[in-house]
Amino acid sequence: MTRRPILAGNWKMNLLTAEAKELATSLAAQVGDVNDRDVVLIPPYTTLPVVREAIAGTKIALGAQNGHAETSGAYTGEVAMPMIAEAGCVYVIIGHSERRQYYGETNASCNAKIKAALAADLKPIYCIGETLEQREAGETLAVIEKQLTEGLADFQAAELEPLVLAYEPIWAIGTGKTATPEQAQEVHRAIRDWLQKHLGEEAAAGLRIQYGGSVKPDNVDVLMACADVDGALVGGASLKADSFARIVLFNTD
Ligand code: PEP
Repeated sequence: MTRRPILAGNWKMNLLTAEAKELATSLAAQVGDVNDRDVVLIPPYTTLPVVREAIAGTKIALGAQNGHAETSGAYTGEVAMPMIAEAGCVYVIIGHSERRQYYGETNASCNAKIKAALAADLKPIYCIGETLEQREAGETLAVIEKQLTEGLADFQAAELEPLVLAYEPIWAIGTGKTATPEQAQEVHRAIRDWLQKHLGEEAAAGLRIQYGGSVKPDNVDVLMACADVDGALVGGASLKADSFARIVLFNTD
């Protein structure tokens, strides 16, 4: 089975309205008609409307960076999944390492958020990955397995069809250090093996696994050439139209 690549730009807490509009408008012009891969822009909540407008009529999709597990209620400062869907999002990031690190998100809270996202017809992008200490202690695959086991607990394979996984080694995020293609492929293969064992052949063959961690125009081609790497979740390099467009248009020839 060939998996459709998915390239997503996580803008994090960056860009005011005029800047967001300019970036999205430029990307719409450069990669708006790309139709052999999925392209997703993931701005902060406040600029979702202007980005939505800028990409209207293109093939680019919209995503959000986080969402709450409850559908409504007394959760000051939070945004519910149905609100995100109503804002025009198709995707939502869940369990980004910055949220795990700064806001106490756990595999269990991610599990509840994935349920809420699916219930709102959003496609979750579930982020997993190890710290440098865990890698150096030889714990990478055990950490990944725990994040998968707990984050994806209680789901049937069919329910997870919209899921996208993002392997993001924490030591590579925003640091300029990228996993080598061999390091990325080793973990992506292990993730696919886990999927096969716990969710079956079809899920393992069909679910997409993005790599994230200092993906740039000059390293995207070799990373995307790995057999089990199906796209990229990009932070810093997604904030400039030319660099994200080059990443989207990766080629492995
Ligand atoms: C990210 O935020 O998911 C990310 C991978 O960031 P960067 O590309 O800047 O390392």
